[in-house]
Amino acid sequence: MNPISENIERIEKNIQNAIDTSSREREEVLLLAVTKTQPIEAMEEVFNQGLIYFGENKVQEFNQKYDEFSERVKWHFIGHLQTNKVKNIIGKVELIHSVDSLRLAEEINKQSNKKNCITNILIEVNVALEESKFGISVNNLESFLHEIGELEHINVKGLMTVAPFVENPENNREIFRKMKGLLVDNNNKNIHNICMTELSMGMSNDYKVAIEEGATIVRIGTDIFGKREYK
Ligand SMILES: *Cc1c(COP(=O)(O)O)cnc(C)c1O
Repeated sequence: MNPISENIERIEKNIQNAIDTSSREREEVLLLAVTKTQPIEAMEEVFNQGLIYFGENKVQEFNQKYDEFSERVKWHFIGHLQTNKVKNIIGKVELIHSVDSLRLAEEINKQSNKKNCITNILIEVNVALEESKFGISVNNLESFLHEIGELEHINVKGLMTVAPFVENPENNREIFRKMKGLLVDNNNKNIHNICMTELSMGMSNDYKVAIEEGATIVRIGTDIFGKREYK
């Protein structure tokens, strides 16, 4: 067996263990293969192992790879998104994980309107404040949901967070638990157009804990492909 298929097999086992521990169902958790910086050949291997959800974080790289795989895979955009690049990805991505400002949301809404589509998004929340540069603060989340709920070409599917890198994944458990709480609490506020089901949280080093705390999408790069090489 090649390393990638061994990696995916190990990850699947880990996911199943976390699912069992938390009495959830496997179908509730999507394994998103984070393909940033990875060459097409490695992505083909992952695709051949049955993974069809790919996540990219840069618009230009996404578009190059999109042309290569076109309709075969479902794309998620997971990186910080600049307003002026929104038009280059609308209609091509199934979910944008990283919406963190009203300006960005309005541009996604505008471009989706132009293309006559509705774009699924997650709101990036900064629960670990000092650690992350991006994301809506917990204090501003509710008012942000009120504003974004008014945008007709956006469908808010849930919340996303990038937890800090920690040696011991248990150290992120509180963050994941807090995210789940935010999802439930805000759904209960009956905000116009806001009914959230997705929680994108957990990466290579902490996805097991994230699943135990309610993640519905785990974003995994290194654990599938090995260490990234930046040119
Ligand atoms: C790169 C990246 C990941 C994957 O990180 P790994 O540690 O390689 O699994 C997940 N989420 C986001 C937003 C990323 O940029």
